[in-house]
Amino acid sequence: MSSKPATHDIKFTKLFINGEFVDSISGNTFETINPATEEVLATVAEGRKEDIDLAVKAAREAFDNGPWPRLSGEARRKIMLKFADLMEENADELANLEVIDGGKLFGSMRYFEIPLSWETIRYFSGAADKIRGATLKMSSNIQAYTLREPIGVVGHIIPWNGPTFMFSAKVAPALAAGCTMVIKPAEQTPLVSLFLAHLSKLAGVPDGVINVVNGFGPTAGAAVSTHMDIDAVTFMGSTEVGRTVMQAAATSNLKPVSLELGGKSPFIVFDDADVDKAVELAVVGNLANKGEMCIAGSRVFVQEGIHDVFVKKLEATVKGWAIGDPFDLATRHGPQNNKEQYRKVLSCIQNGKKEGATLVTGGGPFGKKGFYIEPTIFTNVTDDMSIAKEEIFGPVISVLKFKTVKEVIKRANATKYGLASGVMTKNIDIANTVSRSIRAGAVWINCYLTLDKDAPHGGYKMSGFGRELGWEGLEHYLQVKTVATPIYDSPW
Ligand code: ADP
Repeated sequence: MSSKPATHDIKFTKLFINGEFVDSISGNTFETINPATEEVLATVAEGRKEDIDLAVKAAREAFDNGPWPRLSGEARRKIMLKFADLMEENADELANLEVIDGGKLFGSMRYFEIPLSWETIRYFSGAADKIRGATLKMSSNIQAYTLREPIGVVGHIIPWNGPTFMFSAKVAPALAAGCTMVIKPAEQTPLVSLFLAHLSKLAGVPDGVINVVNGFGPTAGAAVSTHMDIDAVTFMGSTEVGRTVMQAAATSNLKPVSLELGGKSPFIVFDDADVDKAVELAVVGNLANKGEMCIAGSRVFVQEGIHDVFVKKLEATVKGWAIGDPFDLATRHGPQNNKEQYRKVLSCIQNGKKEGATLVTGGGPFGKKGFYIEPTIFTNVTDDMSIAKEEIFGPVISVLKFKTVKEVIKRANATKYGLASGVMTKNIDIANTVSRSIRAGAVWINCYLTLDKDAPHGGYKMSGFGRELGWEGLEHYLQVKTVATPIYDSPW
């Protein structure tokens, strides 16, 4: 069964500034490629510093003088709900853009990631009229309270591995808080954000509140992180670029940053685990979205008693993983997002072979066209190998053997990252000990990739800081102001 549309009708390729689609000031453009066919999909306006300046000016005017921060919470909620409804009505089109621009699977976009995206907008719409401070009694003759105010103009720098969901996770809380924003999508996936900007306008988000400027990292991205008139930045992407963004924020106007960076998450399978479930989750946790997930469980630690049977079942499952046309609902594995990433993953696989890990299956490119890589399993992986240390961001499962709880906790934590983790066991005491001991922003017990709009997501250590989603996801977009006043004749 295929859901392939007859034509790829790409409606929006310009920049979206102050409610209008406009060319870049320089007139420059760049091409975006379909990773399944390697064909050029569209020519897109390329924004640079001068376009970011224009977008920030629009966002500043919309924040300082426009209606959005001054609307009642109910009014903002209503517009956000309309925005979510329009996403739902246009789910096929959004899924289509995700597939052709990013090689994502139509089925998982249409029935999972895009519904999660519109539900994220709905979730935060419910916060718009519930943002409140606290009452403080500073002393018997001073009364004070806190106000939660929108932080102002926000810059969002977005990666390419989940354009609709990342847009929603960042834009929804910012909208609820009353902020205005400039979005710099990844240059590999410029199309989705433009379509979403169009829907936001149809929903009634006022001009200047959401601006989208496509372009490259060192030009458009850097213009966001260094801008003197952007009040906060959120960044999702590699740890190296996150460091650059934080430096730029520090050396410009000291804007606060939130960073969601790389990961090398442990997925720990104990001897007493349900082995079939553990195999299924190890596969999904590494091969979903062709492994292009910062939260991939890319170090699969398996206890020695179950190790051999686990590997056997893992091999059988991965060998049956259907590779092919991402529009086909039977396909489980599409192309990597872009050529650079494709080459990087293949080189990581080469390193795994060179360093002496055992290649069980996969290990090379797949097919003649498109950036496809075979789902790959390595066993006999040791902690010092590069495939156990560096984020691969591709369809590679590394299996490491362990003996004891204490040992695996130590090894699981021996990484610069701390984004997620998984524990498979029926023993509640082991699950409790491991979940308290792992230094990571999420522990999934007998499940994996359990993301939800209500669950704060973010990193420990060099996986970043700040949280997205959940009530905590609002924090980055709000300021706290204390207001105090004397009480001259207090009865208390
Ligand atoms: P990946 O390694 O996954 O491609 P990157 O961290 O390179 O991710 O990119 C994530 C986002 O950061 C993209 O939108 C990219 O354009 C942007 N970016 C890249 N370099 C910079 C930079 N120097 N300053 C700001 N943003 C950047």
